[in-house]
Amino acid sequence: MRTPELLRPDWPAPATVLAAVTTRNGGCSEGEFAGLNMALHVGDAESSVRRNRKLVADAFAPDAQFQWLRQVHGNEPAIVLQPGEAPEADSLISSAPGIALCVLTADCLPIFVCNRSGDEVGIVHAGWRGMSAGIIENTLAAMRSEPEDLLIWLGPAIQSCHYEVGKDVREAFLDCAVDSCEQRQFKSAFASLGKQGKYYADLTRIARVKLLRLGAASISGGTHCTHCNASRFYSHRRDGPCGRMANLICIGAAS
Ligand SMILES: [Zn+2]
Repeated sequence: MRTPELLRPDWPAPATVLAAVTTRNGGCSEGEFAGLNMALHVGDAESSVRRNRKLVADAFAPDAQFQWLRQVHGNEPAIVLQPGEAPEADSLISSAPGIALCVLTADCLPIFVCNRSGDEVGIVHAGWRGMSAGIIENTLAAMRSEPEDLLIWLGPAIQSCHYEVGKDVREAFLDCAVDSCEQRQFKSAFASLGKQGKYYADLTRIARVKLLRLGAASISGGTHCTHCNASRFYSHRRDGPCGRMANLICIGAAS
């Protein structure tokens, strides 16, 4: 077992904001979960996941309390005042120091959010269902910071090189567009495969369109494809049953 490899966002967040994505490297899971699986619900041995989570906690923020989430591909954010039971929601928001907000992914897009002064953070689980249902809009609306004051980093997700979808996914976005201009932008995020009703979808691009429309100006990341990099990332689309990465953000405890 090696030290867990954590991917750190390349974004201009204040130093008090801690953020990381776990990779598959390090950890003690075996078989299809090999490496640093962070999810209890995928069929991996619970003892392995608990050990992996402890390794990550020690490397990321030993004094933080971890807040997990029951993700349902919906559009509800949850505001965390005190860490506790995992709420059923698809994003977490907090202004309290010392709480590590955790979203699990293995192809869906994790969206990291903090404000410029570093006293409000959020993390979003953005798959196509949640995104077309409004999880990005609802999360930004639930934050007390104005969108102009937010810094955003788009984490590892399945990119358009590998994300084949049916026309239902394209139609869901064309239906949720707020106007014809946004609809055109969403259309350009779907490249036809030349097969009937099949497209390569660019979820990261759709997230950018939505975030810019909402007023968020500082958006970085969006370069890592989970499917392309098997040594570093789990990908459900590539592997079928597999582990999950944890996307973590925390306001560092005041020193
Ligand atoms: Zn790819």
